[in-house]
Amino acid sequence: MPSPAISFEFYPPKTDEQRAQLDKAAAKLKSHNPDYVSCTFGAGGSTLSYTPETVERLHAYHGLDAAPHLSCVGGTRAELGELLLRYKAMGCRRIVALRGDLPSGMGQAGDFRYASDLVEFIRTEYDGFFHIEVAAYPECHPQADDAFADLRNFKRKVDAGANGAITQYFYNADAYFRFVDDVRRLGVEVPIVPGIMPISNFTQLRRFSEACGAEIPRWIGKRMQAFGDDVDSVRDFASDFVAALCQRLLDGGAPGLHFYTLNLSRPTSSVLARLG
Ligand code: FAD
Repeated sequence: MPSPAISFEFYPPKTDEQRAQLDKAAAKLKSHNPDYVSCTFGAGGSTLSYTPETVERLHAYHGLDAAPHLSCVGGTRAELGELLLRYKAMGCRRIVALRGDLPSGMGQAGDFRYASDLVEFIRTEYDGFFHIEVAAYPECHPQADDAFADLRNFKRKVDAGANGAITQYFYNADAYFRFVDDVRRLGVEVPIVPGIMPISNFTQLRRFSEACGAEIPRWIGKRMQAFGDDVDSVRDFASDFVAALCQRLLDGGAPGLHFYTLNLSRPTSSVLARLG
């Protein structure tokens, strides 16, 4: 059986220290032969200049196939079009197309309302040049009050021309399988790759999860608390648990795994080592 496709997500560093950390992580994770890596984008232009620079470094210095994330909120057609041209000139063939979230205090909505509008724009303006990934939410997007409407909205992005999807991270495999079944019933056929968040810093994870609507099962939280400052036990437990989740997803038909690395190699590598 062919190995599942693996991809790694990084965020754009802003300081020299962060750049060195990314270089270290990218060099180590490259040994796992990722299909591609991706680099996030700050909505509202906050990392406008950092994402292309980081994509260039991942591509030219590390020799990785790097896919920029592009979020449309707060951006104009001209700005986003310019960035897409820049990515095309760099040789990027894959874009992760998102709506994004406006940072608080930034009121400028931009020319596009939803990710589906951005997907349509990329498809229309660049024909078939880019492979487009979009975001999927097995536990529902945090702003969606209607789970079924959220599924239909996901389908809109695929109908607009997305080639694949990467999910928000989750720790409950059933949510992923149910999501995939539901959207297949709506006629969505593109691959839906689970997003995996290895656990390194539990306090930080809890904060992220509240913001993005990912549920951390109570029993995991309780275990983490009970380990207290026993860092080795926390790491072992977290890696075992996340590796078992990955195995279950792959056994159940997931087409690959996309790791949210947070620019660290160790948590992702220790999950991959357990998966063999
Ligand atoms: P959309 O697909 O547009 O959906 C947003 C909300 O609008 C949903 O509730 C949806 O149900 C609703 N909706 C969609 N279409 C319609 C419609 N036609 N009518 C009514 N309602 C509609 N954020 C960043 O800022 N930078 C990143 O680099 C980044 N990378 C990410 C990568 C992945 C894999 C994931 C899963 C998320 C990422 N995010 C990123 C977070 C993402 O930007 C937020 O979750 C954001 O709130 C929604 O973006 P979206 O592309 O899913 O939006």
